[in-house]
Formats: sequence, structure tokens, C-alpha cells
Amino acid sequence: MPNVRIKRERTKGWRKPPGCKIVDRTSDFGNPFTVAQLVDIGYAEPQARTMVITEFRSWLRGSRANWAADEADQRREKLLTRMPELHGMDLACPCEEDEACHGDVLLEWGALPLVALEVRIASARARVDRQRAFQGMKPLHDAAALTAVLTRDVGPRLLVDVDLGDGIPQRWDSGTWSQYLASQRRAEEQVTARLVEVFA
Ligand SMILES: [Zn+2]
Repeated sequence: MPNVRIKRERTKGWRKPPGCKIVDRTSDFGNPFTVAQLVDIGYAEPQARTMVITEFRSWLRGSRANWAADEADQRREKLLTRMPELHGMDLACPCEEDEACHGDVLLEWGALPLVALEVRIASARARVDRQRAFQGMKPLHDAAALTAVLTRDVGPRLLVDVDLGDGIPQRWDSGTWSQYLASQRRAEEQVTARLVEVFA
């Protein structure tokens, strides 16, 4: 059964059910983008609510477009490091169950098979470090370690998105990817393509 998001009640005596993780702003999993920020500059709900979830989604995937500060990168990093804790968990947030919530983005991450999760995390980190390098900032990760995750065989019968270097991911099956890797390695060429996403 897929995992679900439940409402964290503020009433006394509410207890988190087993197999559930709290992801609101009292946790490392909270959305740093707030509806209030957008309402302040003139947006109305529920559009503002949708926007902060979109911002959260792309920020988590390594975009620095809406918040290009070291603080933002450290915060994302903390979340990415803890992301495997959400694997296979239900999530709790004070949002109503029928309203949009950043927890829905986290549910998608938590539903990924572990190999896909590892690739997605490495892909986000590599993306952040590329943008940091562009601004003359120090990378947060060892490039070789990220490359090792992003240039590996991922097993049979999966779909993968591969970046061949132009930043536009192409969808391959894992057989095609593995053949590509094998041919590059036979030719002792450096593998320049990178996994962006792995689908079960
Ligand atoms: Zn929420």
C-alpha cells in the first residue's frame, strides 16, 4: 500500500502513529519557503500555497534559482542526508489532508526504491555543486564520489533518465544505459553521461 500523509493534530494527547514521520517546520523536513512570504508581496492563497510547494520541489532537486545562499544549500543538505529516513514512511503535517502540502513532495521521495533515491540525492548534490562552482563557492561534496553513484549500472528492467552533458535528460532503459557504460569503459573513455533519475 502506498504511504500517505496524515494531519498532525495540535490537540493535546495526539500521538504520532507507528511508521509515521513528522515533516512540518518543527522538523528538518519542513518547507523553508513560506506562504506568508508570498502573501506579503501580494499573492493570494491558495496560489501562494501551490507556489511554495513548487519552490520546495525544485529547491530539493538542487535548484538555487529561488534561494542561492550558502544557508539554503546547508539546509537542503541536511534534508537530503536525512531523506532515507522517509523511505516507506507515512508523513504527518498540520496541513489538512485534502490541501496541497510540501509533504506530498516528500512522499514521492519516500516512495522511491533505495537505488533510485540514492541516484536522486546524488543528482541534486551534483547540480548544487555545479551552480556553486559557477559562483566561485566551494563544493559541498567530493565530485568523484558523486560521479561513482551517477555513472553506475542500475540493474535490469528499470527506466533511467540520463544527462548526456547538455542538461536535457533523455529516457533510456537500463539495458541501453549499461551497454553505453560498457562501451565507454571498453574504449577506456571517461563516462561523461550522468544518471539523473532512476525509475523502478
Ligand atoms: Zn503541510
